[in-house]
Parts: sequence; C-alpha cells; structure tokens
Amino acid sequence: MKLDNGRMKLDNMKQDGTITGGAADMNLVATQAAEQKLLLQTYDRHPILLTRGEGVHLFDDAGNEYLDLLSGIGVSALGYGHPAITKAMMAQAATLLHTSNLFYHDGTATLAVKLTELTGMDRVFFCNSGTEAWEAALKLARAHAGMLRAEGKTIGTRFIAMEHSFHGRTMGSVATTHKLKYREPFAPLMPDVVFVPFNDVAALRAAFTNEVCGIALECLQGEGGIHPVSQEFLAAARELCDSTGALLLCDEIQSGMGRTGKWCSYQHYGIQPDVTTLAKPLAGGLPMGALLCTEAAARAITPGMHGTTFGGGPLVCAVAIAVIDEINRANLLAHVSEVGSYFVEQLRGLAQEHDSILEVRGMGFMIGVEIRTAELAKELADRMMFERHIILNRTSETVLRFLPPFLITKAHVDETIAALGSLLQEASAAQTVLAGEQVHG
Ligand SMILES: *Cc1c(COP(=O)(O)O)cnc(C)c1O
Repeated sequence: MKLDNGRMKLDNMKQDGTITGGAADMNLVATQAAEQKLLLQTYDRHPILLTRGEGVHLFDDAGNEYLDLLSGIGVSALGYGHPAITKAMMAQAATLLHTSNLFYHDGTATLAVKLTELTGMDRVFFCNSGTEAWEAALKLARAHAGMLRAEGKTIGTRFIAMEHSFHGRTMGSVATTHKLKYREPFAPLMPDVVFVPFNDVAALRAAFTNEVCGIALECLQGEGGIHPVSQEFLAAARELCDSTGALLLCDEIQSGMGRTGKWCSYQHYGIQPDVTTLAKPLAGGLPMGALLCTEAAARAITPGMHGTTFGGGPLVCAVAIAVIDEINRANLLAHVSEVGSYFVEQLRGLAQEHDSILEVRGMGFMIGVEIRTAELAKELADRMMFERHIILNRTSETVLRFLPPFLITKAHVDETIAALGSLLQEASAAQTVLAGEQVHG
C-alpha cells in the first residue's frame, strides 16, 4: 500500500513536468527535482550524480571520471570496490546480517582485540556513526564523574570543549560543537559546556576546576580547518584531567584509523587520552562508530546503562576487520605518511609561488590549505571539481581540505598540484587585470 502511494507520488510529479525520466532513467535534473520536493533540505549538494567508483576514482551518470581526494568526507579510505571489502561484505551478508546485542557473534571480540591494540585502549563500545560514538563518550564522562562522586570525590558535570570543534549533530554532540549555526536553532542543548580557544593553555587552566568531568578535543581539528593541537596544550589537558579524575576525550572520528599516518592522531604526541572515538573510515564505507576507553573509565558503565540496536553487528564488524587487516597488509600507514609529506611539500611549493595561499597544515592524508579569501577558496574548490574533475572540499570558509583515500600515489599528487597551480595562475592573472582596470578605469 505504502509502496503504491510512493509510486503515485512519482507519477504525479512526472505529469507536472518536474520529473522527466522514469524511475529507471532518473537523471540528475529529475533527481534534483524529486529531492527538492521530498527530502528535508539539510544539504546543498553539488550537481553531480555519482553512479560508480573504482579505486580512487568516481564516475558520474555522464561518464565523467573524477579523482577523489575527499573519500566521502574521510570515509572511503580504501577507495571504491576494494576486493578485500567486497569479499568480506559478500561472505558475511550471505551468512548472518544481524543478531541484536542480546546474542554473541564472533566479529565483536575479534574486532575489539584489534581496535584496543591499535589505540592503546582497554575496552570498546560499538555503535553506528560518529555522533553516536561521541554521545557515548559524553555519557561515559558524566557517568564516570558520578561514580567518583559516589566514592566521595568532589567532581562536577561540566565539559570543556574547544573553539572551532566539531563532534557531530545529536544534542550532546552539538552542545560540544563550537559553531553557533549548528547549535543555536536547537537550544536548549545539553547544559554545562564551556568553550576555550584551541591551544590557549592559559585559558584552559583558567577554565579548569573540579566542576569539570571531561576535556573534549580533536588532536587535529577537521571541520574547524585542519588545525593540530600543540604538544603543550595536549600535555596541559592530560595533566589537568589527572589532577581531578576528569576524563580526557579525544575525538578521532576524522583523524583516526591511519589517516594521519598513525592509527590515532594523539599517537603523534605520545599522550594517551582516557576515551577516544572512531567512525568515518572504520567499516570501509558502511556506517559504524566505536568508543574506546581505559579500564578505569569503563568501570562507570554497567549493563542496561547504554545501548544500541544495530551497534557492532556482524556485517560491519566483518568489514572493519577486513579494513584493518588490509591497512596492515598493504603497509598503508607508512604509505600515508610518505605520500602525505610529499603532498604537503608540493603544496608548500605552490604557496611560495602564489601569495593567495596563506598556509598549508596537516598530517598524513588530512591536509588543509588556507586561502586568502573565502571567495577564492570557493572558486578553486568548484573549478577543481567541475573543470579538473578532482574532488576536494572547502571547510571553515577559507580552507581547501584534502582527505584522500589511503591509496593515492605521488602521481595523483602531481596531477593535483598541476591542476591547482594552473587555477591559481589564472586567478592571479584575473586579479591583475581587475586591478589594472580599477587603476585605469
Ligand atoms: C564527522 C565527524 C563527527 C560526526 O560523525 P557522524 O558520523 O557524521 O555523526 C564527529 N567528530 C568529528 C571530528 C568528525 O569529523
């Protein structure tokens, strides 16, 4: 019945002239028209209809090939159609898809062994997305402080979060996310969050009291514009948490799973948090998140306190195991470090030639290029995509962000540098003409 109604809706639109093709040949324009009418308008999509992926390339319905340097925002770390992922997915899909968390299956423990080893943590909670993992981290910090209070310690419920942070879109996650646009329309949010300027040690120390149950940060801020934490700031956060029993929460949803050349970005600093979160590339493109924590933090959680219907199901576990095994087998952490450094070097070379590049930041395959103006950053990102067919994106208005699949080579970097270099050349030539016209006009 429901299906029939859906069918009718589409047929009606066809008569309206808003949809030109049938369901089988819905092209870009038809899809746009249908989505415009039917979907909650949460995204301003690029006018490209993707149909297929292969390796580090994506293809649209017109047959155009794109070099993908964004990986679906850091998700498709092994690119598209990777045989290790396809094989694990097919085998598990044919065997057992879902068990619920009321029963055992053999994927969760196997994956937990691997994840605890590679993060240096003791325990895992599996869920289905980044924001869910972060939500679990916040709940754990509150529950942990509650446990300490019950044991007679003085510790409050407040979180210290960072300016320009991003932790997701559910109520707790947005409450610890800095951007007002993401928070304000949904107020009142989870209370008791204060923001401090990222890397401002004095401000962190000033904000920290025994009211605080957790300090929340990304060691390499992603949406905030690819800004790394300083060694001093992370060390101060660790020391402050240790002084009261508050938890240090490091969000590795974008930076984790090898993207920076180590499994977690905090490993570059030699500082271990109490809690970390993984998601984006964890299950090779399938939705999966994980919270990892120390034994001491995990004591706060007992059966029934937290849960999820789908979390840690057999399919995503099987694929995540395959992803980790493949990253190890192909020695991809070393590859990401090597090609990532090369990429940054080449971009810094471009910055020497073009003063419209203010700074190049990043680690491994998480790279940001700060452009002088938001207009130019937008123009460059659009022209890279639509004219050069190289996909990247813009974050924090002025930053070109690269989150390529772990499989790109130096040749792909060279191709990208040549394309970006020629666009920068054109942009500065246009700027010179414009300036000349202003002088002479
Ligand atoms: C993407 C992201 C999230 C949110 O993940 P979702 O899967 O979109 O909920 C949280 N934190 C960071 C650092 C992210 O990059």
